Amino acid sequence: MQLFCLEPPLIGPRVPLLVASCSQESGTMHPDTDRLMTLQKYDLEAKRLRDEIAALPKLVAQLETKAKATVGQRAVVVDLIAKEEILRRRQELDVKDHQAKIAKIRKQLDNATDTKQVTAFEHEIQFAQSAIGKLEDEELESMERTEQFEAQRKIADEAVAAAEAKFEGERERSVTKIAKDKEELAALEATRLEHRKTIGEDALSTYDRIAKSKGTGIAEVLLQKCTACQMMQRPQRWNDLRDRTNNELFTCESCGRLLWYDPARDAPQRKPVETESIAARIVRGL
Ligand SMILES: [Zn+2]
Repeated sequence: MQLFCLEPPLIGPRVPLLVASCSQESGTMHPDTDRLMTLQKYDLEAKRLRDEIAALPKLVAQLETKAKATVGQRAVVVDLIAKEEILRRRQELDVKDHQAKIAKIRKQLDNATDTKQVTAFEHEIQFAQSAIGKLEDEELESMERTEQFEAQRKIADEAVAAAEAKFEGERERSVTKIAKDKEELAALEATRLEHRKTIGEDALSTYDRIAKSKGTGIAEVLLQKCTACQMMQRPQRWNDLRDRTNNELFTCESCGRLLWYDPARDAPQRKPVETESIAARIVRGL
């Protein structure tokens, strides 16, 4: 037997029916129970929309920070490439200096008059040639480094393009999404406020109080357990909740949430829970 039906959702498909199948056999459940369940769906959806509206600008800001960091990483590589170029230019100038010096010494060498002078000039030429060789080796090393940096710059360029595209795309998407969410939220708020008027004052104030402190104000009891706080309900209370004809609102003794029960979901436990202890039965049987 189904004890209650949910009203069809008043807003879009984001608020699904809580109970898949409804029978016409409602009657013993407090009339506010299913209204509170619907209210909770509205409240949770409103929270989701508000959270999303708050989260999207943060996500966009994170993507912007990431894009800027990527630009910064590329700038480091570009700077390294520029430094290598400056280094090579200096090396080339140094090579030219040494070459000029060698040319000059060679002229002096042509005019040398004794062996000592010749040896000294030759020594200077050798020294300059060796310096040129060293500079050329260093220039090659610099070119190898530049090659590696260029490869890194290519990767950095791609990373910057991807990060900026993602940031721009997400920024545009978020503007559209926030506008849509705000529109949905306004419609939902209107529906929600109207719906609240259909709920009894006591039930509503209990729901509001619990929902404010715990996030939700009504929970399902399944297999004797409150599905929100996971506490077992006392057997007598569990039986009352399932077999009630007293039309009252039940609350969880542990978390204070209002409770709802769907017998269709609780089929394996239909048998009433034994409330009399074995000892009590023995005493009664004496
Ligand atoms: Zn509970």
